[in-house]
Amino acid sequence: MKQADYNLVIIGGGPAGLTAGLYAARSRMHVLLVEKIVPGGQILVTDWVENYPGFPEGLAGAELVQRMTDQVKRFDLPIESNEVLGLDLSQPVKKIRLSDREISTQAIIIASGASPKKLGVPGEDKFYGRGVSFCGTCDGPFFKDRVIAAVGGGDTAVQESQYLTKFAKKVYLIHRRDKLRAAKVLQERAFANPKIEMVWDSVITAIEGQKEVQQIVLQNVKTGARNVLPVDGCFIWIGITPNTEFIDDQFQRDEYGFIEVNARMETSVPGVFAAGDVRNTPLRQIVTAVGDAAIAVSSAEHYIENLHS
Ligand SMILES: Cc1cc2nc3c(=O)[nH]c(=O)nc-3n(C[C@H](O)[C@H](O)[C@H](O)COP(=O)(O)OP(=O)(O)OC[C@H]3O[C@@H](n4cnc5c(N)ncnc54)[C@H](O)[C@@H]3O)c2cc1C
Repeated sequence: MKQADYNLVIIGGGPAGLTAGLYAARSRMHVLLVEKIVPGGQILVTDWVENYPGFPEGLAGAELVQRMTDQVKRFDLPIESNEVLGLDLSQPVKKIRLSDREISTQAIIIASGASPKKLGVPGEDKFYGRGVSFCGTCDGPFFKDRVIAAVGGGDTAVQESQYLTKFAKKVYLIHRRDKLRAAKVLQERAFANPKIEMVWDSVITAIEGQKEVQQIVLQNVKTGARNVLPVDGCFIWIGITPNTEFIDDQFQRDEYGFIEVNARMETSVPGVFAAGDVRNTPLRQIVTAVGDAAIAVSSAEHYIENLHS
Protein backbone atom coordinates (compact mmCIF):
# COMPACT_ATOMS: atom_id res chain seq x y z
CA MET A 1 0.00 0.00 0.00
CA LYS A 2 1.18 3.53 -0.83
CA GLN A 3 2.58 5.50 2.11
CA ALA A 4 0.10 7.88 3.73
CA ASP A 5 0.95 11.06 5.65
CA TYR A 6 -1.09 9.86 8.65
CA ASN A 7 -2.66 6.72 10.12
CA LEU A 8 -5.71 8.71 11.13
CA VAL A 9 -7.12 12.16 10.45
CA ILE A 10 -9.94 13.43 12.68
CA ILE A 11 -12.23 16.06 11.17
CA GLY A 12 -13.60 18.39 13.84
CA GLY A 13 -12.48 19.37 17.33
CA GLY A 14 -15.72 19.23 19.33
CA PRO A 15 -16.14 16.73 22.18
CA ALA A 16 -16.21 13.81 19.70
CA GLY A 17 -13.09 14.95 17.84
CA LEU A 18 -11.14 15.76 21.01
CA THR A 19 -12.02 12.38 22.53
CA ALA A 20 -11.01 10.58 19.32
CA GLY A 21 -7.77 12.56 19.46
CA LEU A 22 -7.18 11.58 23.07
CA TYR A 23 -7.66 7.87 22.38
CA ALA A 24 -5.60 7.93 19.17
CA ALA A 25 -2.72 9.92 20.70
CA ARG A 26 -2.64 7.63 23.74
CA SER A 27 -2.44 4.67 21.32
CA ARG A 28 0.56 6.40 19.68
CA MET A 29 -1.18 6.52 16.30
CA HIS A 30 0.22 8.97 13.79
CA VAL A 31 -2.81 11.24 14.02
CA LEU A 32 -3.86 14.76 13.06
CA LEU A 33 -6.97 16.62 14.20
CA VAL A 34 -8.23 19.35 11.86
CA GLU A 35 -10.55 22.01 13.32
CA LYS A 36 -11.85 24.91 11.26
CA ILE A 37 -12.65 27.36 14.08
CA VAL A 38 -11.32 26.58 17.57
CA PRO A 39 -11.52 23.31 19.52
CA GLY A 40 -14.67 22.94 21.60
CA GLY A 41 -17.50 22.76 19.08
CA GLN A 42 -20.98 23.39 20.41
CA ILE A 43 -19.90 23.21 24.04
CA LEU A 44 -18.33 26.61 23.49
CA VAL A 45 -21.82 28.08 23.14
CA THR A 46 -23.20 26.16 26.12
CA ASP A 47 -23.51 28.19 29.28
CA TRP A 48 -23.66 25.40 31.84
CA VAL A 49 -23.36 21.61 31.55
CA GLU A 50 -24.93 19.63 34.37
CA ASN A 51 -25.39 16.21 32.79
CA TYR A 52 -21.78 15.25 32.10
CA PRO A 53 -20.76 12.61 34.66
CA GLY A 54 -18.02 13.39 37.16
CA PHE A 55 -18.99 17.02 37.80
CA PRO A 56 -21.68 16.87 40.51
CA GLU A 57 -22.17 20.65 40.62
CA GLY A 58 -22.05 20.97 36.80
CA LEU A 59 -19.50 23.16 35.05
CA ALA A 60 -19.33 25.94 32.46
CA GLY A 61 -19.13 24.77 28.85
CA ALA A 62 -15.93 26.79 28.42
CA GLU A 63 -14.34 25.03 31.40
CA LEU A 64 -15.19 21.59 30.03
CA VAL A 65 -13.56 22.56 26.72
CA GLN A 66 -10.47 23.78 28.59
CA ARG A 67 -10.25 20.49 30.49
CA MET A 68 -10.65 18.44 27.30
CA THR A 69 -8.00 20.42 25.43
CA ASP A 70 -5.59 20.28 28.40
CA GLN A 71 -6.02 16.50 28.43
CA VAL A 72 -5.18 16.05 24.73
CA LYS A 73 -2.18 18.37 25.12
CA ARG A 74 -0.78 15.96 27.72
CA PHE A 75 -0.61 13.33 24.98
CA ASP A 76 0.75 15.74 22.34
CA LEU A 77 -2.20 15.50 19.96
CA PRO A 78 -1.40 17.68 16.92
CA ILE A 79 -4.31 20.04 16.21
CA GLU A 80 -4.28 22.02 12.99
CA SER A 81 -6.43 25.06 12.45
CA ASN A 82 -7.74 24.45 8.94
CA GLU A 83 -10.92 23.55 7.11
CA VAL A 84 -11.59 20.25 5.39
CA LEU A 85 -13.04 21.11 1.98
CA GLY A 86 -13.26 17.70 0.33
CA LEU A 87 -12.46 13.99 0.51
CA ASP A 88 -11.13 11.68 -2.20
CA LEU A 89 -11.93 8.15 -1.04
CA SER A 90 -11.39 6.33 -4.33
CA GLN A 91 -8.14 4.66 -3.17
CA PRO A 92 -7.23 2.80 0.06
CA VAL A 93 -5.00 5.79 0.91
CA LYS A 94 -7.57 8.52 1.33
CA LYS A 95 -6.95 12.14 0.37
CA ILE A 96 -8.23 15.12 2.30
CA ARG A 97 -8.39 18.55 0.69
CA LEU A 98 -7.62 21.34 3.16
CA SER A 99 -7.79 25.06 2.40
CA ASP A 100 -4.07 25.22 1.49
CA ARG A 101 -2.96 21.67 0.57
CA GLU A 102 -3.86 18.00 0.31
CA ILE A 103 -2.98 15.38 2.95
CA SER A 104 -3.31 11.58 2.86
CA THR A 105 -4.36 9.11 5.52
CA GLN A 106 -5.21 5.46 6.05
CA ALA A 107 -8.35 6.16 8.08
CA ILE A 108 -10.65 9.09 8.81
CA ILE A 109 -13.00 9.91 11.67
CA ILE A 110 -15.64 12.44 10.73
CA ALA A 111 -16.57 14.37 13.88
CA SER A 112 -17.71 17.58 12.23
CA GLY A 113 -20.84 17.90 14.37
CA ALA A 114 -23.87 19.95 13.56
CA SER A 115 -25.10 23.53 13.29
CA PRO A 116 -28.35 25.17 14.37
CA LYS A 117 -31.31 24.93 12.04
CA LYS A 118 -32.87 28.13 10.82
CA LEU A 119 -36.55 29.03 10.91
CA GLY A 120 -36.46 30.10 7.26
CA VAL A 121 -38.72 33.12 7.80
CA PRO A 122 -38.38 36.70 6.51
CA GLY A 123 -36.11 38.81 8.74
CA GLU A 124 -34.11 35.90 10.16
CA ASP A 125 -31.00 36.51 8.02
CA LYS A 126 -31.43 40.29 7.89
CA PHE A 127 -31.41 40.63 11.69
CA TYR A 128 -28.79 37.94 12.43
CA GLY A 129 -26.42 39.61 14.92
CA ARG A 130 -28.93 42.46 15.39
CA GLY A 131 -31.37 40.66 17.64
CA VAL A 132 -31.49 37.22 16.01
CA SER A 133 -29.16 34.71 17.66
CA PHE A 134 -28.52 30.98 18.03
CA CYS A 135 -26.27 31.35 21.09
CA GLY A 136 -27.43 32.45 24.55
CA THR A 137 -23.95 32.38 26.04
CA CYS A 138 -22.59 34.63 23.28
CA ASP A 139 -25.42 37.15 23.05
CA GLY A 140 -27.57 36.86 26.22
CA PRO A 141 -25.65 39.59 28.12
CA PHE A 142 -26.62 42.16 25.42
CA PHE A 143 -30.26 41.81 26.48
CA LYS A 144 -30.15 43.16 30.03
CA ASP A 145 -33.67 44.21 31.13
CA ARG A 146 -35.04 43.60 27.65
CA VAL A 147 -37.71 41.28 26.23
CA ILE A 148 -36.72 38.18 24.28
CA ALA A 149 -38.51 35.54 22.24
CA ALA A 150 -36.96 32.06 22.37
CA VAL A 151 -38.11 29.37 19.95
CA GLY A 152 -38.13 25.60 20.49
CA GLY A 153 -39.29 22.93 22.90
CA GLY A 154 -36.29 20.64 23.45
CA ASP A 155 -33.58 20.60 26.13
CA THR A 156 -31.49 23.31 24.51
CA ALA A 157 -34.39 25.77 24.05
CA VAL A 158 -35.65 25.31 27.60
CA GLN A 159 -32.25 25.35 29.32
CA GLU A 160 -31.05 28.36 27.33
CA SER A 161 -34.29 30.29 27.95
CA GLN A 162 -33.68 29.79 31.66
CA TYR A 163 -30.16 31.19 31.18
CA LEU A 164 -31.50 34.22 29.28
CA THR A 165 -33.62 35.20 32.31
CA LYS A 166 -30.36 36.12 34.07
CA PHE A 167 -30.36 39.18 31.80
CA ALA A 168 -33.76 39.67 30.20
CA LYS A 169 -36.77 40.98 32.12
CA LYS A 170 -39.02 38.60 30.15
CA VAL A 171 -38.57 35.57 27.90
CA TYR A 172 -41.43 34.29 25.75
CA LEU A 173 -40.80 30.63 24.98
CA ILE A 174 -42.55 29.96 21.69
CA HIS A 175 -43.34 26.36 20.84
CA ARG A 176 -45.35 24.94 17.97
CA ARG A 177 -46.92 22.23 20.15
CA ASP A 178 -48.84 22.32 23.45
CA LYS A 179 -46.15 20.53 25.46
CA LEU A 180 -42.38 20.56 25.67
CA ARG A 181 -39.97 17.77 24.67
CA ALA A 182 -37.29 18.85 27.16
CA ALA A 183 -36.22 16.78 30.20
CA LYS A 184 -38.77 17.02 33.03
CA VAL A 185 -36.34 18.73 35.41
CA LEU A 186 -35.75 21.50 32.86
CA GLN A 187 -39.48 21.90 32.27
CA GLU A 188 -40.16 22.21 36.01
CA ARG A 189 -37.59 24.99 36.31
CA ALA A 190 -38.99 26.84 33.29
CA PHE A 191 -42.58 26.65 34.56
CA ALA A 192 -41.45 27.89 37.98
CA ASN A 193 -39.54 30.84 36.52
CA PRO A 194 -41.72 33.98 36.68
CA LYS A 195 -39.77 35.60 33.85
CA ILE A 196 -40.64 32.82 31.36
CA GLU A 197 -44.02 32.90 29.64
CA MET A 198 -45.00 29.99 27.42
CA VAL A 199 -46.57 30.70 24.03
CA TRP A 200 -48.03 27.35 22.95
CA ASP A 201 -49.12 26.10 19.51
CA SER A 202 -47.40 28.97 17.77
CA VAL A 203 -44.86 29.53 15.02
CA ILE A 204 -42.98 32.65 14.01
CA THR A 205 -43.81 33.76 10.47
CA ALA A 206 -41.68 36.93 10.34
CA ILE A 207 -39.08 38.84 12.33
CA GLU A 208 -39.43 42.60 11.86
CA GLY A 209 -37.79 45.87 12.80
CA GLN A 210 -35.90 48.89 11.50
CA LYS A 211 -32.19 48.50 12.33
CA GLU A 212 -32.70 45.81 14.99
CA VAL A 213 -35.42 43.33 15.92
CA GLN A 214 -38.53 45.11 17.21
CA GLN A 215 -41.27 42.52 16.84
CA ILE A 216 -42.13 39.04 15.69
CA VAL A 217 -45.24 37.89 13.88
CA LEU A 218 -46.81 34.77 15.37
CA GLN A 219 -49.34 32.37 13.99
CA ASN A 220 -51.34 29.96 16.10
CA VAL A 221 -51.13 26.56 14.34
CA LYS A 222 -54.53 25.44 15.71
CA THR A 223 -56.66 28.55 15.14
CA GLY A 224 -54.65 30.22 12.37
CA ALA A 225 -54.84 33.51 14.35
CA ARG A 226 -51.97 35.94 13.83
CA ASN A 227 -50.58 38.43 16.28
CA VAL A 228 -47.59 40.69 16.68
CA LEU A 229 -45.36 40.43 19.74
CA PRO A 230 -42.96 43.30 20.51
CA VAL A 231 -39.52 41.86 21.44
CA ASP A 232 -35.90 43.06 21.38
CA GLY A 233 -34.39 39.72 20.42
CA CYS A 234 -35.19 36.32 19.00
CA PHE A 235 -33.16 33.23 19.98
CA ILE A 236 -33.68 30.15 17.82
CA TRP A 237 -33.20 26.59 19.10
CA ILE A 238 -35.28 24.33 16.83
CA GLY A 239 -32.77 21.59 16.18
CA ILE A 240 -29.62 21.04 14.22
CA THR A 241 -28.39 20.03 10.80
CA PRO A 242 -25.19 17.99 10.12
CA ASN A 243 -21.96 19.72 9.04
CA THR A 244 -21.31 17.67 5.92
CA GLU A 245 -20.63 20.27 3.21
CA PHE A 246 -17.27 18.63 2.45
CA ILE A 247 -18.74 15.23 1.55
CA ASP A 248 -20.89 14.46 -1.45
CA ASP A 249 -23.19 11.49 -1.96
CA GLN A 250 -20.41 8.95 -1.29
CA PHE A 251 -21.88 8.13 2.16
CA GLN A 252 -25.11 6.49 3.15
CA ARG A 253 -27.13 9.05 5.11
CA ASP A 254 -30.48 9.16 6.85
CA GLU A 255 -33.42 11.24 5.63
CA TYR A 256 -32.09 14.34 7.47
CA GLY A 257 -28.57 14.01 6.04
CA PHE A 258 -26.87 12.54 9.14
CA ILE A 259 -24.20 9.95 8.28
CA GLU A 260 -25.30 6.37 8.88
CA VAL A 261 -22.95 4.16 10.90
CA ASN A 262 -23.14 0.72 12.49
CA ALA A 263 -22.38 -0.08 16.15
CA ARG A 264 -18.63 0.13 15.39
CA MET A 265 -19.09 3.66 13.98
CA GLU A 266 -18.23 2.38 10.49
CA THR A 267 -19.74 4.41 7.66
CA SER A 268 -20.60 2.90 4.27
CA VAL A 269 -17.04 3.71 3.11
CA PRO A 270 -14.35 1.31 4.46
CA GLY A 271 -11.81 3.11 6.64
CA VAL A 272 -14.08 6.09 7.29
CA PHE A 273 -15.82 6.34 10.67
CA ALA A 274 -18.22 8.93 12.07
CA ALA A 275 -18.87 10.00 15.66
CA GLY A 276 -21.03 12.48 17.55
CA ASP A 277 -23.72 14.81 16.29
CA VAL A 278 -22.88 14.29 12.60
CA ARG A 279 -24.04 10.68 12.70
CA ASN A 280 -27.50 9.10 12.88
CA THR A 281 -27.55 8.98 16.66
CA PRO A 282 -30.76 8.89 18.69
CA LEU A 283 -29.29 11.28 21.30
CA ARG A 284 -27.08 14.28 20.54
CA GLN A 285 -25.22 15.03 23.74
CA ILE A 286 -21.62 15.36 24.93
CA VAL A 287 -21.69 12.01 26.68
CA THR A 288 -22.85 10.17 23.55
CA ALA A 289 -20.40 12.04 21.30
CA VAL A 290 -17.43 11.05 23.45
CA GLY A 291 -18.62 7.42 23.63
CA ASP A 292 -18.94 7.24 19.84
CA ALA A 293 -15.46 8.67 19.45
CA ALA A 294 -13.80 6.06 21.66
CA ILE A 295 -15.48 3.29 19.66
CA ALA A 296 -14.53 4.94 16.34
CA VAL A 297 -10.83 5.00 17.28
CA SER A 298 -10.88 1.38 18.36
CA SER A 299 -12.51 0.45 15.02
CA ALA A 300 -10.03 2.59 13.07
CA GLU A 301 -7.13 0.80 14.81
CA HIS A 302 -8.56 -2.60 13.81
CA TYR A 303 -9.06 -1.38 10.26
CA ILE A 304 -5.44 -0.18 9.99
CA GLU A 305 -4.05 -3.40 11.54
CA ASN A 306 -5.99 -5.42 8.95
CA LEU A 307 -4.54 -3.31 6.14
CA HIS A 308 -1.07 -4.39 7.21
CA SER A 309 -1.79 -8.05 7.90
C1 LIG B 1 -26.72 25.78 23.23
C2 LIG B 1 -26.39 24.31 23.41
C3 LIG B 1 -26.44 23.74 24.68
C4 LIG B 1 -26.12 22.38 24.85
N1 LIG B 1 -26.14 21.85 26.12
C5 LIG B 1 -25.74 20.57 26.31
C6 LIG B 1 -25.68 20.03 27.62
O1 LIG B 1 -25.97 20.70 28.61
N2 LIG B 1 -25.25 18.73 27.75
C7 LIG B 1 -24.90 17.95 26.69
O2 LIG B 1 -24.52 16.80 26.87
N3 LIG B 1 -24.98 18.44 25.42
C8 LIG B 1 -25.38 19.73 25.21
N4 LIG B 1 -25.45 20.23 23.94
C9 LIG B 1 -25.15 19.31 22.80
C10 LIG B 1 -23.65 19.08 22.65
O3 LIG B 1 -22.97 20.33 22.68
C11 LIG B 1 -23.37 18.33 21.35
O4 LIG B 1 -24.08 17.12 21.36
C12 LIG B 1 -21.88 18.04 21.20
O5 LIG B 1 -21.14 19.23 21.19
C13 LIG B 1 -21.61 17.26 19.91
O6 LIG B 1 -20.21 17.11 19.76
P1 LIG B 1 -19.52 16.85 18.34
O7 LIG B 1 -18.06 16.81 18.63
O8 LIG B 1 -20.16 15.70 17.70
O9 LIG B 1 -19.89 18.10 17.43
P2 LIG B 1 -19.66 19.67 17.61
O10 LIG B 1 -19.68 20.06 19.04
O11 LIG B 1 -20.67 20.28 16.69
O12 LIG B 1 -18.19 19.91 17.05
C14 LIG B 1 -17.89 19.76 15.68
C15 LIG B 1 -16.62 20.53 15.35
O13 LIG B 1 -16.25 20.26 14.00
C16 LIG B 1 -15.77 21.43 13.38
N5 LIG B 1 -15.94 21.32 11.93
C17 LIG B 1 -17.11 21.27 11.22
N6 LIG B 1 -16.85 21.17 9.90
C18 LIG B 1 -15.50 21.15 9.75
C19 LIG B 1 -14.64 21.09 8.62
N7 LIG B 1 -15.12 21.01 7.37
N8 LIG B 1 -13.30 21.11 8.83
C20 LIG B 1 -12.79 21.19 10.10
N9 LIG B 1 -13.57 21.27 11.20
C21 LIG B 1 -14.91 21.24 11.04
C22 LIG B 1 -16.66 22.53 13.99
O14 LIG B 1 -16.02 23.81 13.88
C23 LIG B 1 -16.79 22.05 15.44
O15 LIG B 1 -15.78 22.58 16.28
C24 LIG B 1 -25.76 21.58 23.73
C25 LIG B 1 -25.71 22.16 22.45
C26 LIG B 1 -26.03 23.51 22.28
C27 LIG B 1 -25.95 24.13 20.90
